[in-house]
Amino acid sequence: MPELPEVETTKNAVLPFKGKILKQIIVNNPSLRWPIDQKAIKKIKDVKILSISRRAKYIFLDLDNLTIIIHLGMTGTFRIQNLGSNETKKHDHIIFEFKDKILIFNDPRRFGSLHITEDPQDHFLIKHLGPEPLEEDFNSEYLFRKIKKAGVSTKSFLMNQKNVVGIGNIYACEILFSSGISPKRKIKYLNKSQCKEIVRNTKRIIKEAITKGGTTLKDFYSADGNKGYFKIELNVYDRENKECRVCKDKIIRFVQNQRSTFYCKSCQS
Ligand SMILES: [Zn+2]
Repeated sequence: MPELPEVETTKNAVLPFKGKILKQIIVNNPSLRWPIDQKAIKKIKDVKILSISRRAKYIFLDLDNLTIIIHLGMTGTFRIQNLGSNETKKHDHIIFEFKDKILIFNDPRRFGSLHITEDPQDHFLIKHLGPEPLEEDFNSEYLFRKIKKAGVSTKSFLMNQKNVVGIGNIYACEILFSSGISPKRKIKYLNKSQCKEIVRNTKRIIKEAITKGGTTLKDFYSADGNKGYFKIELNVYDRENKECRVCKDKIIRFVQNQRSTFYCKSCQS
């Protein structure tokens, strides 16, 4: 599943469409995670894309008085083709048509989504989201305050988008390893300096992953069709039974909230 760095990378790859005129949107299959509002789609004709941005794992295409909110879901990807090129693929659900290019949204598992709204900040998908990990409002004071009322494990807390956005399974495992904190531990018992460590490692890991274009996982393709971005070095994720890079102990995998969690028993407590 694309995580924040992958979505940021995808957003950057579609940035060239900023300032371009979107002629129309063609929906081949409206049955995504939420059905696409076809009436609203049909009203979008020959409008300029004023800006393209990202909030959490959502990509915003801002038009004059509307915003298109796109989520990649589990397997959503974009690719760019010349207008008139007849190359179509299975699961090409949405086509954004420009003067000489088309931007195609492909999503085999259809957990992605497209919404059109006048006020994105007040949209039901957006308004309850926590701070961006790289923004200043995600800091150790914020985290220390926020964990007090939380009854969950460190990993569950970090993956909850109401607390901080964009941390999925992979980065949660990596952040906790770098911070020396067990994914099983109740987060409310962490002290201030541990919160500081988590914040520091979150920012460092997310930044590094964005710089390298997001980790390459099987379902992720960049918008220009290149599979195979650079990979950040993962210390624990997907490394069951391999040697810990720090202490040589074996990395352990266990299932936590139906997701695989990876950690080192010796380095994390
Ligand atoms: Zn270790």
